[in-house]
Amino acid sequence: MSPSPHITVSVDLDRIRASAEAIGRATGTAVLAVVKADAYGLGAAEVSHALRDRVAGWCVFRLDEAIEAGLGETGLPTLALGPPEPQRLAEYLQHRVRPAVSSVEAARALRAAGPVLCVDTGMQRFACPPERVDEVIAAGEIREAFTHAVTLQQVEQFVDIAGGRGLTLHAAATALLHEPRARLDAVRPGLALYDQAVRISAPLVEVNESRGPVGYTGFTAGRIGVILGGYSNGLRPGRCVVNGQPARIVEVGMQSAYIDLTGLGARVGDEVVLLGPGAQANDLASDWGTSPHAVLVSLACAGRRVYG
Ligand SMILES: *Cc1c(COP(=O)(O)O)cnc(C)c1O
Repeated sequence: MSPSPHITVSVDLDRIRASAEAIGRATGTAVLAVVKADAYGLGAAEVSHALRDRVAGWCVFRLDEAIEAGLGETGLPTLALGPPEPQRLAEYLQHRVRPAVSSVEAARALRAAGPVLCVDTGMQRFACPPERVDEVIAAGEIREAFTHAVTLQQVEQFVDIAGGRGLTLHAAATALLHEPRARLDAVRPGLALYDQAVRISAPLVEVNESRGPVGYTGFTAGRIGVILGGYSNGLRPGRCVVNGQPARIVEVGMQSAYIDLTGLGARVGDEVVLLGPGAQANDLASDWGTSPHAVLVSLACAGRRVYG
């Protein structure tokens, strides 16, 4: 996917800050902001700069993401959630990145970097099976453990496996923030920080009364608009908003898309909101048949970013 010069991705850093604060208040626990995948496409360097005095630390997937975003310079620790790179101990130390580990070998090799145990409660990837937890903890002199949980039941399973040893424990991502029993010693929100903080839009470059079936698919609409973003920029058919009113992206081409403007008084130059109030990631996830995370990352990379 490549960004379209005609699409604007506006990131509201104040809103992201307010969300981090609200999550900290509501959960009463430490917030580890998940800024992996370039903060879901919103810019890990900018987001971490905005959040550096509001959170307790960062989560990325790979060590290199932390280095590229300069997370070490925030003075806060980073947890790299993905597979560890045992040969890069010096860089973990230099950039204050703690590797997630799930094997004795990685725990031992990275012991000096303060490795964090990843316990398997169902993901069955990059995670330690329950019966090996004790030996990995010993090999890495481990003091902190987490699991990638989707349900409260998995959190409880995690606490059964890793609790009672004086370890710092965390499990909750966005989906479990509302569950008091999932909060433990920290929470790891990603989507909840960014949802509602992004507005993605493109201007109408043409508006036409239709003269019969339109486009590749021959769809019918009374009035059609065109924007200069398409599937090569990550767009897909689904809802959108034009002048505050609900509208629909009905057909997506390589670098342009058709909007059904029937009944709307829209004109050339008016903005089509692709993600924002009235067309949030959750709404689009149901239109697209995917997750809100996939929608956000896809659209965040669709245009050029501006910060407000
Ligand atoms: C991505 C991720 C998160 C954040 O998930 P959200 O649903 O975006 O809050 C938390 N923990 C782990 C292990 C992850 O991989």
